[in-house]
Amino acid sequence: MEEKTVNIKEFNRNRIYKLLRQKQHLSKQDIVQHLQISLPTVTQNLNYLLKQKLIANTGTIGNTGGRNAQLFSYISDAKVAIGLDITRNHITTVVVDLNGEIININRRRQKFEASDPYFRLLGDVIQESIKDLNIDESKILGVGIGVPGLITEDHQTVFYGKILNFTGETLERFAQYIPYPAILVNDANAAGFSEIWATPDTKNAFYISLSNNIGGAVYIRDKVFAGENQKSGEIGHITIIPDGLPCYCGQKGCLEAYCSASLLSDAAEGSLAQFFEQVKQGDPEKLKLWEKYLRHLSIAINNIRMLFDCDIILGGYVGAYMEEHIDTLKKLVAARNTFEDHADFLRICNYKTEAIAAGAALPFIDQFINQI
Ligand SMILES: [Zn+2]
Repeated sequence: MEEKTVNIKEFNRNRIYKLLRQKQHLSKQDIVQHLQISLPTVTQNLNYLLKQKLIANTGTIGNTGGRNAQLFSYISDAKVAIGLDITRNHITTVVVDLNGEIININRRRQKFEASDPYFRLLGDVIQESIKDLNIDESKILGVGIGVPGLITEDHQTVFYGKILNFTGETLERFAQYIPYPAILVNDANAAGFSEIWATPDTKNAFYISLSNNIGGAVYIRDKVFAGENQKSGEIGHITIIPDGLPCYCGQKGCLEAYCSASLLSDAAEGSLAQFFEQVKQGDPEKLKLWEKYLRHLSIAINNIRMLFDCDIILGGYVGAYMEEHIDTLKKLVAARNTFEDHADFLRICNYKTEAIAAGAALPFIDQFINQI
């Protein structure tokens, strides 16, 4: 019985906090009206949130009765989480606030190596970001480390890490110089989570990360569907062309071999921006390459649609350039579809950059908001 009372108390506190988070500024009366809970309950919970420094009393507004109502405001940077995106040649660090907004980005060129100096550097770059923002360490909820590898369910170990040749590497080593709670996260899962989190209306979706490597993640009712062995959604290794081009995984004809972003950037002196500029200018060679890319991608997208019948979000380096080409891609996809004559289920990512790093940090934010 007592446990139930506590749960209702926490439930109300959580509702009040989330309402303030959504509306930013509210008076007590606003909260009473919105949530239909008693004034003493609202007062008690606001006092608790004030004490925790999660909200602030931000002055008064006049009301029609001539008396002034006190306003309570949500503090978006009361807590923050840090996300890392580890790639072959870069370390990107972001700090996200309770809104999921990136409030600091730090990107540095650094070749990955599973060595003590490298892991020490991870600790250093995190400290740099904290110093940049001048934030109190007590505000830091945790650090998510996004890596291009498959991670065990407990977030502790890389069990397939061919891209960086780091299979078997552990969180213990990655986080040995990080004095905060930390987790390892698969890069595509992280990026997908950032998209699902940013769009509360989307419950079911498939996220494709079109970067130098191709990743994917399945979301069912807002939760990643990891599969029996944490290998679900590995869209980069579905067969697009039987016995086609070799893939780094050892197989032939994988999507990875046809739709890696580096196929495009390699054709434009290593610059994806330049590639898309040349496509825009009508460079025939680049146009041909791009059309071929979209054709192969449309096969994968149609397969995903047939399997899951849900929204498909295009992210990663190429996803960020997709705005101008989405209609062309939709036509190619619709032409393959058995049941639909459109492809309105295709969406472009919200986070144009740093989806992986932000998404690696967001589980800490999500957990915090839900447990208040
Ligand atoms: Zn492959």
